[in-house]
Amino acid sequence: MVKAVFPGSFDPPTYGHLNIISRGAALFDSLDIVIAVNSRKTPLLTPEEIKLLLIEQINGMGLEQVRVTTYEGLIVDYCRSVDAGVLLRGVRSSADFNYEFELSILNKQLNEEIETVLLPTEPKYFVLRSSTIKELLNLGGDISAMVPPAVEKALLKRRGRED
Ligand code: ADP
Repeated sequence: MVKAVFPGSFDPPTYGHLNIISRGAALFDSLDIVIAVNSRKTPLLTPEEIKLLLIEQINGMGLEQVRVTTYEGLIVDYCRSVDAGVLLRGVRSSADFNYEFELSILNKQLNEEIETVLLPTEPKYFVLRSSTIKELLNLGGDISAMVPPAVEKALLKRRGRED
């Protein structure tokens, strides 16, 4: 039984994240999506909003072996607490790869029993980044090809509160 953990900010959850989730669910016996609670970053959506949105998407995809949780702390400590041996991450570009490679070395130093598995993105999700979505949102651009309708609705509602 191989348990994997997919950590990230998921702010907002995109079709790129969902693609990694469905491919990860096919590779591992169980997959925990862990929303990192980072009090230093200014979030677009709160971790609780992200959690509800991800649960809705995962239920819609029929992925029963996937769980969603929020966590504040070191991801290797979360892995240890649920007895997971794999840290799953996605890569879009060589810049992502450099970052993810260094992160994997750091996590290996923190816990050598946990293996990082990197999944290359599918070409259609190549340009999908949270920062681009935030910018498009601020400028009133169309983000419907990047995030599921429920996520778009939550983001527009959030923008409405801030206008
Ligand atoms: P973090 O703030 O931890 O980088 P993100 O929410 O930005 O969290 O990303 C979580 C993971 O999902 C990272 O491994 C990231 O590389 C991956 N990811 C994000 N967008 C995509 C995408 N379009 N295709 C594949 N992987 C992606």
